[in-house]
Amino acid sequence: MVATSGVTVVMDPVTLRRVPQTARVLVSHAHSDHTRGFGHKGLKQSTVETRDIHTALNTHRISNFAAIDLNRKVSIDDVEIRALNAGHMLGSAQFLVHTPATSILYTGDINCVDTLTTKAAEPHRCDVLVIEATYGSPIYRFPSRETIYAGVVEWAVEMIKQGCIPCLHVYAAGKAQEMVRLFNVYTHLPVVVNPRLDGVNEAYRKSGHSLNWLASNSPDGREVLEKDPCVYITTPGDKRSIGRKAARAFATGWALSLRGRNAVFPLSSHADFEQLVSFIKACQPEEVYIFTGFAEELGRTVKSELGLDARAVPTMNQRKLFEDY
Ligand SMILES: [Zn+2]
Repeated sequence: MVATSGVTVVMDPVTLRRVPQTARVLVSHAHSDHTRGFGHKGLKQSTVETRDIHTALNTHRISNFAAIDLNRKVSIDDVEIRALNAGHMLGSAQFLVHTPATSILYTGDINCVDTLTTKAAEPHRCDVLVIEATYGSPIYRFPSRETIYAGVVEWAVEMIKQGCIPCLHVYAAGKAQEMVRLFNVYTHLPVVVNPRLDGVNEAYRKSGHSLNWLASNSPDGREVLEKDPCVYITTPGDKRSIGRKAARAFATGWALSLRGRNAVFPLSSHADFEQLVSFIKACQPEEVYIFTGFAEELGRTVKSELGLDARAVPTMNQRKLFEDY
């Protein structure tokens, strides 16, 4: 929360209990652990894409909403807000807030490498940085995107050769669309998706992303699933049978610390440890507040290696691997 004498701005509130009705609520992206603010009665702002994806996943409409465009300044009395690309999923934003006294950058969830569907998050000079640390431990150093993409495609082709349908279990918003694009770009395989992904895929298409897919409940999707070589993309918790023998895999940054029967690829929508440290350095903040994941661990590194004043803030709700979006 940022408050001056005349303006209160709240970013990604996890509860609305202490949010004044007159406050302006900013929502960084459409993952459910960041969208509680859409329930605020007062004015809410996010990118159009975040609103569209949220609406696709949750049927209710959002009232009292004003879109905020990336890189455009919004002034409210003595406060200026700018949304910056966060690189985490379509529409994801960081918020840079300037008050007469200070500048604060809140990252939401960030990813600092380009992917097939997003551009890397940009650091920005600020006095106070509030940053996530989902993978803020040195054990999380992700391989290059290209290496992971190649591994996913090789695995899928091998599973098809063995007579299975490769089934990829990923978050419905963000990772699923990256997977659809991956198979569209690198293979000619038809991509069938769980119907829950359909609306989010449409939001990506509406914003200019070229995605080709069939929903599993459409006549074409059913037919392909019954008899053609194809790939099936679904949510992490979906265990339903798809009628033919399935080979299941997950794609998540947690792959680096998971052991199990299924294939797991370390494809993350978050920055890894080194990306986080480089990002913090580039922002040149005087103070760093770190939330979620390995906040304490990253804080110690920021203090010892960058010599910055850093502290962990209480953990917010975070999605777990088997939640669906
Ligand atoms: Zn997220």
